[in-house]
Amino acid sequence: MVDSPLPPFAHPVAHGGLPSPGALVPPDSAGGGAGLQVSVVVPIYNEVESLPQLVESIAAALRAEGVIYEIVCVDDGSQDGSGELLRQMTQARSDLRGVLLRRNYGQTAAMAAGFHYAQGETIVTLDGDLQNDPADIPLLLAKLGEGYDLVSGWRKARQDDTLTRLLPSKIANWIIGRVTGVQIHDYGCSLKAYRQELVADMNLYGELHRFLPALAFLEGARISEIPVRHHPRRYGQSKYGLDRTFRVLMDLLTIFFMKKFLTRPMHGFGLLGMVSMTLGGAIGVYLTVLKLLGGQDIGDRPLLILAVVLGLAGVQLLCFGLLAELLMRTYHESQGRPIYRVRAVVGSAVGFNPHDRPSADAKS
Ligand code: UDP
Ligand code: MG
Repeated sequence: MVDSPLPPFAHPVAHGGLPSPGALVPPDSAGGGAGLQVSVVVPIYNEVESLPQLVESIAAALRAEGVIYEIVCVDDGSQDGSGELLRQMTQARSDLRGVLLRRNYGQTAAMAAGFHYAQGETIVTLDGDLQNDPADIPLLLAKLGEGYDLVSGWRKARQDDTLTRLLPSKIANWIIGRVTGVQIHDYGCSLKAYRQELVADMNLYGELHRFLPALAFLEGARISEIPVRHHPRRYGQSKYGLDRTFRVLMDLLTIFFMKKFLTRPMHGFGLLGMVSMTLGGAIGVYLTVLKLLGGQDIGDRPLLILAVVLGLAGVQLLCFGLLAELLMRTYHESQGRPIYRVRAVVGSAVGFNPHDRPSADAKS
């Protein structure tokens, strides 16, 4: 294939001994690394009952596919012994790798840790509670093989409570689709497959794991979705309640800003600031005319307060835009993040020299 990988990315390098604490340590090479085709990343928080069956069914699905794989389970500071069980299981299996976080950081951080240690060319994520069906992984891989960078699962027949889960999720999915421009049905489904370069290049904060398709879309990824199975939770309880809706909305605002103004914040803040200042200025002029020419008293007019507020807000927005411009440059330049993503560079041009004549010319 002539395609070279999307972004410049330093692949995890071999690293002897135990990984020291902190997320910036390169993964050790105990799991093999070279030639790994699929890494399955699973965040685990108090899922001790499902863990054995989960790992076994993921392994069964991938063995049937005949791919070289690893399973990366990230224990997100469980208190029910999941971490200890994981440690024991890794001793008996060569296809399992456990990343034990020091405390509970949340699903996004757990997934980011998993991405960091996963070494496969393709990364598959799913929940650790057996609600996603590992038997669907081959379907995702097949779809990814059609040339997509990200394939998302769609829990078409979702087995969760209608009022607290399905309805908020339906509304959220609709809004997210409108705001981000990525029209997939089910953002909340954890069962997804990615090309490795895509996740390696993504920084996750808040609960942004849910917006990975949107973030990937901003990076120019080709995205698809397929219906997958979904089962009711068999053990333990869901880790989320209705309060998740608020957090999703806030994350959505971040994504909206990133989509529109990440590389040009002054265009957003500057415009708002100018509009605000112009309005404030116009009202101010109007009041001044009333005062000077009409001799009216303007000291107790609400319009005066509005003019002052608009003027101040305008100045603040402009300053904010300037600060955002500076921050944006730091964001891109400090990380060596170009503002574009290259899918492939084709051809190996060596330059055209007009003095190099074809041999036929040389004869005449
Ligand atoms: N999870 C995690 N850390 C947390 C909360 C959840 O790693 O702080 C994991 C959890 O173990 C599960 C996945 O994230 O594998 C999804 O959680 P859950 O099933 O509770 O979410 P729901 O399916 O109810 O949306
Ligand atoms: Mg679940």
